[in-house]
Amino acid sequence: MKKKLILVLNCGSSSVKFSVIDPILEINYLDGMVDILNSKISLIIKNLIKNTTLFKEFEKMDSYEKLIKLIFTTLLCKYKNYLDDVVGIGHRVVHGGPFLKKSMIINSDILLKIKQSSIFAPLHNPFHVAAIKIALKIMPILQYNNVVVFDTAFHQTIPKKAFLYAIPYKFYKNYSIRRYGAHGINHFYVLKKSSLILKKPINCLNIISCHLGSGSSITAIVNGQSVDTSMGLTPLEGLVMGTRCGDIDPYVIFYMVNELNIPVKEVQQILTKESGVLGISSMTSDFRKLEEKYYTHKQAKLSINIFCYRISKYISGYSSLMQGRLDAIVFTGGIGENSSFIRQKIIHKLSLLNLFIDVKKNKKNYKKNIFINSMNSIPILVIPANENQIIAQETYDLVV
Ligand code: ADP
Repeated sequence: MKKKLILVLNCGSSSVKFSVIDPILEINYLDGMVDILNSKISLIIKNLIKNTTLFKEFEKMDSYEKLIKLIFTTLLCKYKNYLDDVVGIGHRVVHGGPFLKKSMIINSDILLKIKQSSIFAPLHNPFHVAAIKIALKIMPILQYNNVVVFDTAFHQTIPKKAFLYAIPYKFYKNYSIRRYGAHGINHFYVLKKSSLILKKPINCLNIISCHLGSGSSITAIVNGQSVDTSMGLTPLEGLVMGTRCGDIDPYVIFYMVNELNIPVKEVQQILTKESGVLGISSMTSDFRKLEEKYYTHKQAKLSINIFCYRISKYISGYSSLMQGRLDAIVFTGGIGENSSFIRQKIIHKLSLLNLFIDVKKNKKNYKKNIFINSMNSIPILVIPANENQIIAQETYDLVV
């Protein structure tokens, strides 16, 4: 019988990731990535069934479109047997703006709205639009089977009291300025997995999902719905991140612009690319390196302490929204999955909430869903991020 596979495309400004997945059997056939940041472009495709890897290097290209074309032509040439079974293409879209609130089959009107939402995600949405256009052109047979899955969609259930900023209401009414959140696809994945692991239906589940990666966000989920999240209008708000500042007093910006005469564009660069743990440590945004230097480099230690303190503070705040019953804290994302050191530091401050870590279990860093809490604690879980499974599933549900 012909398989029904989904090609998942995750197109960003520094890399393009893609996978071919059977969403029903949860089998990953291919995982690929193109790194665009270096002087040469490197393309890696792993065949997870045959355990083989294709690696190619290319000269830098003068357009993003050419790059996406290259991925498609390589897939069609080298992995035609899998591509022939693809029944839909799922595109991850970071920002749906005020109008796009759930996964949908792409058409010209939706494409235009994604383009318009670029004001909220200038580093992502324009790349998504370019990739979607190429996909429609190169695989016309699937032109009615391209689906967009939004990182903002899961947060549509956040109530007004949590998504509105206390600025004149007209800025929300006329310009859609509000909290949208991000990482929603993975927060939803974590919720679904937690429901299976804890054997509790999604709509009764109360969890706090901590997605800690180069961008980090934390979401309060009550009865299976997002009720608050740390990222805001854009992914700059909230937790301290690799290079992003997270929550600051907006007056810091006025001070930089008006008193220090730093041009606004430069302030934007400082707060998005030069802040976070990189800014505090003056060293790196890579948490592996910061951890290595924790006991010898004062600023590295400070940056990790500030990162963990902010997360503990959010967990404390969000736990009070749990209607008296927090079912679990979940760690996910590159740091959340891999750093027992950071997990311990975050939980260490939360004994008042009945959260205690089991040091031994926490140290076991294998790529599986695990409990890392001690017996007397509320469950604390580690769940590896997997946006692709949700994107593939939602695409399948809409096209098959
Ligand atoms: P992205 O947001 O780009 O998807 P990831 O979720 O892959 O990011 O997370 C990247 C971050 O995870 C980097 O800051 C990296 O330093 C950190 N990281 C990866 N492995 C480890 C580890 N073993 N210990 C600590 N941090 C790690």
